[in-house]
Amino acid sequence: LVRIRGLDKHYGPTQVLHSVDLDVFAGEVVAIVGPSGSGKSTLCRCINRLDSTTAGSIVVDGAPLPEEGSELRRLRAEVGMVFQSFNLFAHLTVVQNLMLAPVKVRGIRLEEARERAYGLLERVGLADKAYAYPRHLSGGQQQRVAIARALAMEPKLLLFDEPTSALDPEMVREVLGVMTQLALDGMTMIVVTHEMGFARQVADRVVFMDGGRILRTAPPEEFFTAPGHPRAEAFLATLP
Ligand code: ATP
Ligand code: MG
Repeated sequence: LVRIRGLDKHYGPTQVLHSVDLDVFAGEVVAIVGPSGSGKSTLCRCINRLDSTTAGSIVVDGAPLPEEGSELRRLRAEVGMVFQSFNLFAHLTVVQNLMLAPVKVRGIRLEEARERAYGLLERVGLADKAYAYPRHLSGGQQQRVAIARALAMEPKLLLFDEPTSALDPEMVREVLGVMTQLALDGMTMIVVTHEMGFARQVADRVVFMDGGRILRTAPPEEFFTAPGHPRAEAFLATLP
């Protein structure tokens, strides 16, 4: 579903990604782990074209990443993204947050969009919050709305960039629960996370990044027992 080859990224004179190669297959969950500043967020942003690349290729669902225009809108519709900060529209209710993009971008009828929004809220356990405003929800609830909003576009791929790192522990659990269910439902996901329990239990593969490079890709049981790279070992040693 995603094929990345020789991806380089510079910010001015600084190179932050060095010839990154990565494949993600349909239905797979890939966890990206690594120290702060290693380029995890930058990689996600490149996949979603929120950021430009310097060299290399990214192919999503058979088509090379477009530069701009209608193709770019199509890509954004196919690749959902969930951030650390929930980025909900504060002036819209929960159900309106979920309906906006399907109606505006996909041209879906209001009634159908509303039906679907209710279905998605059910799925993330927030059916009773449809008419609440984001500020009246807990962080964990807001993040579950953000996930439902991403799902409303029926994306082929979901990117998560540290979706739980702004949350209190009990809320982390409810958000990871929703993500685990998505994984079981066969959603293709790339998840940047510090939650090693999630990476170990839910991911099909763990990708370790350091200094803008992918230093190791392995199934979780392998990665966590034999990190296979001194930097990965050092990184795991810093974790609680
Ligand atoms: P964290 O775990 O802290 O989120 P990360 O692995 O996501 O870290 P990135 O945010 O991708 O790391 O950053 C990679 C490198 O790129 C860092 O050295 C960072 O300082 C640099 N960088 C990121 N965004 C920009 C920007 N807009 N302009 C210049 N440098 C940037
Ligand atoms: Mg980051």
